[in-house]
Amino acid sequence: MTEPLDRLAAHAAESHAVVVGGGMAGLAAALEFAKVGLRVTVLEAGDRLGGVLRSAEVGGFTLDVGAESYATRGGTVRALVDELGLGDAVTTPNPAGAWVAGLPGGLAAPLPRGGVLGIPANPWSPEVRRIIGRRGVWRAFVDRIRPPLTIGHERSLGTLVRSRMGERVLDRLVAPVTGGVYSARPDDIDVDIAAPGLNAALTRTGSLSGAVADLTAGRTAAPGSAVEGIVGGMGRLVDALVSRLADLDVELRTGADVAELRRGAAEPGDGAEGWSVVLSDGTVLAAGAVLVALPEAAARRVLAPHVPDLDPEAGESPVVEVVTLVVDAPDLDRHPRGSGVLVVPGARAAKALTHSTAKWSWLAEQADPGVHVVRVSFGAQGEEPATAGLDDTDAARLALAEASALLGVPLQPAHLRAARRERYTQSQPGAFIGRAERTGEARDAIRAVAGIGAAGAWLSGTGLAQVVPDAQHEADRLRSALLWSGGTPL
Ligand SMILES: Cc1cc2nc3c(=O)[nH]c(=O)nc-3n(C[C@H](O)[C@H](O)[C@H](O)COP(=O)(O)OP(=O)(O)OC[C@H]3O[C@@H](n4cnc5c(N)ncnc54)[C@H](O)[C@@H]3O)c2cc1C
Repeated sequence: MTEPLDRLAAHAAESHAVVVGGGMAGLAAALEFAKVGLRVTVLEAGDRLGGVLRSAEVGGFTLDVGAESYATRGGTVRALVDELGLGDAVTTPNPAGAWVAGLPGGLAAPLPRGGVLGIPANPWSPEVRRIIGRRGVWRAFVDRIRPPLTIGHERSLGTLVRSRMGERVLDRLVAPVTGGVYSARPDDIDVDIAAPGLNAALTRTGSLSGAVADLTAGRTAAPGSAVEGIVGGMGRLVDALVSRLADLDVELRTGADVAELRRGAAEPGDGAEGWSVVLSDGTVLAAGAVLVALPEAAARRVLAPHVPDLDPEAGESPVVEVVTLVVDAPDLDRHPRGSGVLVVPGARAAKALTHSTAKWSWLAEQADPGVHVVRVSFGAQGEEPATAGLDDTDAARLALAEASALLGVPLQPAHLRAARRERYTQSQPGAFIGRAERTGEARDAIRAVAGIGAAGAWLSGTGLAQVVPDAQHEADRLRSALLWSGGTPL
């Protein structure tokens, strides 16, 4: 080996990468660092790893109480699942589809298939008419006879749908979908990010419903909507990742609350370069590179003192609460609302419901006859969860009442076997208008500073199909900079 390569090898062996935050972004990044033999430490403030990928025992089931699936788009999460030996456990949800509830008169109906973000291709179809009524259908039909937009194109999904197809399509079909997928109102969603190609297809076909038909022609599922899960729950992905990291000698510290970063090495004599990571208990770790994989508010707070152009303030982030219920309810055996229910915003306290034992066969197979698992979600952008001020017992009671109404079956407190409530602060969705510009600026500002990087849902967009490849990419960028810094520790 030539001398520079010897130096490089020695440098690689000594280099220390510290990952701050032990959610999926942090763990995926840590694996990338560890694969090339770097010394890696993951610092997680909580008492468990995985972040929003949270698994818990509820009423005798071990199940996901946070993220429960991943989009197959891009193939990166699936590749990770395979790499970690979980390929045989991959499963797909029941294709029964979801319903929409909170329609006038308290009615519910199956969400029509073949749309884009709830926008129908054919307003005259009986499934659409059942939801928006005759008046809504005629208003939606106006879209076919109006000239397409001529000046530029419409950025706000809400404005686009309202102007072309009317309030009923917007409120009863599109808003429940954006509430369920993005925890956001259609007015705040950027059409070009949420439905790429829709504006162009509108110009091409002359109508919004025509554009939807054009985009969905020949497709069995909406683009990007195909998802997979893991038998036993997504928590297994975290367990497998943690065990692989341990095999690669990655140090995984929980209860390690990172308070700040400082420039320069921790100990005198370690050299003036690099970074020091300071925990709230005063512990200091020296690092050649630091990858910050924290939620937005914490990430901005830690990074801003060293990243001149980074705004220290995070935007408003939706808070959601998910109440998982295990109920004795044989009426649910017939899956009365498919795999779950989306709700017309404002119509009810709950935002959405997943009938987990209808959606995932592996879970149904574990259940005694007549026993079901249901997840009820509360809260959205700009809207506190209705459960927020309640104690756990009252939150479970409210979730049970909502589940009863949304599923159209009587559910009394006597039916409730167990309940568990989780609270999450979500990242603003990547499709939020203006969000891409803001995160793009943050990224550029962070990348201008040597030896630090950042990943996580606030930068990549919220789905695991975005979080995982983005974190891998950021780790790759940092590790290259670390290794090729001329054999001199950064
Ligand atoms: C209820 C819910 C359901 C979801 N369902 C799905 C789904 O089905 N499919 C899908 O693709 N996506 C889903 N998502 C989105 C996806 O799960 C998340 O976007 C993703 O897991 C976020 O990963 P992350 O690593 O960026 O952040 P997090 O998981 O939030 O990880 C950040 C970590 O940093 C830690 N931390 C915070 N402060 C500090 C500190 N000072 N020092 C050290 N550590 C700290 C936190 O404790 C946490 O563990 C869901 C999200 C929610 C909220």
